[in-house]
Amino acid sequence: MPTNENLTNEHPTFVTHLECGMEGDHYEADTLHGLSKAGKPLLVRYDLDAIKNTITKEDLANRPADLWRYREFLPVRKKENIVSLGEIHTPIIPLPKLAAGKGELLVKDEGRLPTGSFKARGLCMAVSMAKELGITKVAMPTNGNAGAALAAYGSRAGMESYIFCPDDTPTINIREIAAQGAKVWSVNGLINDCGRIVGQGKEAMRWFDFSTLKEPYRIEGKKTMGLELADQLGWKVPDVIFYPTGGGTGLIGMWKAFNELTKIGWLNGKLPRMVAVQATGCAPIVKAYEDGIEHAPLWQNAHTVAAGIRVPIAVGDFLILRAIRESRGFAIAVDDNSISAGLDEVSKKEGLLLCPEGAATYAAYRQSLEKGLISPDETAVLFNCATGLKYELPPADDTLDCTLPINYQELG
Ligand SMILES: *Cc1c(COP(=O)(O)O)cnc(C)c1O
Repeated sequence: MPTNENLTNEHPTFVTHLECGMEGDHYEADTLHGLSKAGKPLLVRYDLDAIKNTITKEDLANRPADLWRYREFLPVRKKENIVSLGEIHTPIIPLPKLAAGKGELLVKDEGRLPTGSFKARGLCMAVSMAKELGITKVAMPTNGNAGAALAAYGSRAGMESYIFCPDDTPTINIREIAAQGAKVWSVNGLINDCGRIVGQGKEAMRWFDFSTLKEPYRIEGKKTMGLELADQLGWKVPDVIFYPTGGGTGLIGMWKAFNELTKIGWLNGKLPRMVAVQATGCAPIVKAYEDGIEHAPLWQNAHTVAAGIRVPIAVGDFLILRAIRESRGFAIAVDDNSISAGLDEVSKKEGLLLCPEGAATYAAYRQSLEKGLISPDETAVLFNCATGLKYELPPADDTLDCTLPINYQELG
């Protein structure tokens, strides 16, 4: 394993193998994999002792503030395979007017990333690994943001991408995907119907299936949310993290990050409680959490304004539920009215325009306080996963006729 930073083209990596998230059986690193034999997501494993002996927190602090700062914790072996559009650290923005008590209320604003959402983290890693492993054609079902990120990184890597969206995906997302060079179709069904199209077409079309968690590396990209958050907070973690949960990649990835950091001794003590936030119109994980079961059955008639979390069935359900339970967190559903009200409140009072999924975490924060699930003295981090500008905004149609005298008093 190359650990010498001076090696010209090698990118130090410490991957030992991949492991089925369910059965724990091992798979070889540096070869092409989809799901495990059991049909479950694969998790990338590292030689954590070697990482610990190779780098220090100080080494990292001297590197640029971006996702690649954490390269020893990431799977890409050759620098030349890194496909990047500038994955900067995203800011942590306090909401002092809305915090409930002594605890801070913080928003990790992921809308600042390339393609305007945190899907960039997962897709820059997955596309870089696909490039390293010689893949040239990929396909994906998406509610919008993942497809946009795949289109961008895929085009940059010179790959062909084929993308299938439910027909109620926001128009801006579909156009963004097309503008960034992918082939894209609206499908009269939900994301799982789009997933079926990919699954059934992949042999004939020689597509590599980029569906959420059906390739192993998106989790590693999303894992950087946990590494970055801890780094930004001085290698400390908040009491509780509210995460808008669709396929759950980010929640699984962050929990993996915190555990890896604990194993190398960079985090000591209590880890954050992980809270999965869903919409009442599509809450399979919340239901499975409440029912005390390990897998979440398909949610019928899924609907919510928060398109990113409209995921009726998740192949990584057991990993999401495991992270919630191991962290002593919980799962909570909020309705579309409280999502809209939350969006309005945060943008009008604090000047931060959230996406609906981000607004769902704020609504969940409020409801968790009311229900006594968290205390006002705890520090909470909300994940705003995309820029609010990618979504339809309420109309604002006041007009002025500049050819007539203006009554300025009436503008007040
Ligand atoms: C994809 C997405 C989510 C859900 O993320 P997962 O990690 O797949 O659960 C939430 N919000 C937005 C805006 C998204 O694009």
